[in-house]
Amino acid sequence: MPGIFAFAETRDGEIRKGAHETVTAARQLADALGTEVHAVVLGGTGAGAAAGELGRYGADKVFVGEADAFGKYSAEGFTTVIVNFIKEHGCDAALFPASSLGKDLAPRVAARLGVGYASDCTGLEVQGGTVVATRPEFSGKLIAQVAPTGTPAVISLRPNVFTPTENAKAGEVQTLDVSVNEADFGAIVREIKASAAAKLDVGEAPIIVAGGRGLGSPENFKLIEDLADAFGGRCAVGASRAVVDAGWRPHSEQVGQTGKTVAPTLYIAVGISGAIQHLAGMRTSRYIVAINKDPEAPIFKLADYGIVGDLHQILPRMTEEVRKMMA
Ligand code: FAD
Repeated sequence: MPGIFAFAETRDGEIRKGAHETVTAARQLADALGTEVHAVVLGGTGAGAAAGELGRYGADKVFVGEADAFGKYSAEGFTTVIVNFIKEHGCDAALFPASSLGKDLAPRVAARLGVGYASDCTGLEVQGGTVVATRPEFSGKLIAQVAPTGTPAVISLRPNVFTPTENAKAGEVQTLDVSVNEADFGAIVREIKASAAAKLDVGEAPIIVAGGRGLGSPENFKLIEDLADAFGGRCAVGASRAVVDAGWRPHSEQVGQTGKTVAPTLYIAVGISGAIQHLAGMRTSRYIVAINKDPEAPIFKLADYGIVGDLHQILPRMTEEVRKMMA
């Protein structure tokens, strides 16, 4: 059995949480198929310093490819190295995080290998020796089970769905030959500028407090930010399209069909009615809390916990309680 390939994403030399999730998912598949997990880390010099930690989450081997040209993400360079790795070592499935980088990289790898690709998946299993992925389709109205054609099955995994689980394996680190020539790349990333806010990205945060038109004004988003801050750095602010279109919040915070798809452990929707296009982006959140003054608001149909009332009264009290809880 060739094994399960897991792409371990790094940023600024650090292994990202999505890498732990990807290796955890790969371990589950490998156990079901009786094979090994081969994690691959690509980056600039020193990128592999923390590679051994992937063994904790179930990687049997960790292949580290360091090159100056890989200090920043290179779509062509990464694709070439990964495709060559898979051709040389073989694998039954190749897993990527459905992060911005993973969503760019995974379909390129699938196309170059001439195999099928299942994106943004929320479940994985083995049925009769075949890898089958679960993915929400049509804005989450349909949950499909798909078996990508060809081998390997190339799959990207929705962030925050596969909880990193320790399952220690050898995590033997090996050097990967990445002799690539930057001159061959059609495009080279010279600089990545973090957004001014530089806060946790809404697509990856484990907790999201999202606000909608019910806030009434951009200034009132202070109530949302206060609650998010009370969670102590683990929480991002999200927004409905109505408030993004109104210019109250940046598009990077928009959740929904034309914004980001999120799956945090906790999603608190404040003054958001629950239009189908908004639900499309957050319905796979683990716990949903809705605060709305209208008891008939559609968001309550999806929410695990609903609070009917005025957000101006509820949010300050909730923030106070969260602060006490986190102290
Ligand atoms: P509203 O629908 O106006 O809801 C405001 C809510 O606040 C109401 O339920 C009200 O009861 C409540 N409220 C008001 N005052 C208070 C108070 N004091 N206390 C408590 N509650 C209060 N939308 C998205 O969000 N994301 C998308 O990606 C997206 N993509 C779209 C794509 C297309 C093609 C289209 C056509 C639409 C899209 N939309 C999207 C828009 C979507 O249809 C809704 O218009 C939008 O989600 C509504 O935003 P909202 O819930 O903030 O506002």
